[in-house]
Order: sequence, then structure tokens, then C-alpha cells
Amino acid sequence: MRESIFLECTQCGNRYYRTTKSGKALKKLELKKFCNKCSAHTPHKEKKK
Ligand SMILES: [Zn+2]
Repeated sequence: MRESIFLECTQCGNRYYRTTKSGKALKKLELKKFCNKCSAHTPHKEKKK
């Protein structure tokens, strides 16, 4: 089973990316993504809808 999650910018809280992950993956995702608001690559943490 896959659940859909959001990636939220840790700098400004902007939720720009939506992705899915395996329901078995308990570890929280943290990815470096480009944030339009910050105009920079920032760490994005997963958030549930
Ligand atoms: Zn941002």
C-alpha cells in the first residue's frame, strides 16, 4: 500500500511537492528540493495530507 504525502519546505513551510511512499517505510523522508518561495534548495520534510 502506498500513501500520498506532501513535502514541506522546512524554511518557509511551503508545500510544493506531492509524492507517494510505501506504507511500510516508517522512516520520515527528508529530501533536498528546490523551493520557489525561498529560491534555494532547502530540506523538505514529509507531511501527511
Ligand atoms: Zn521554502
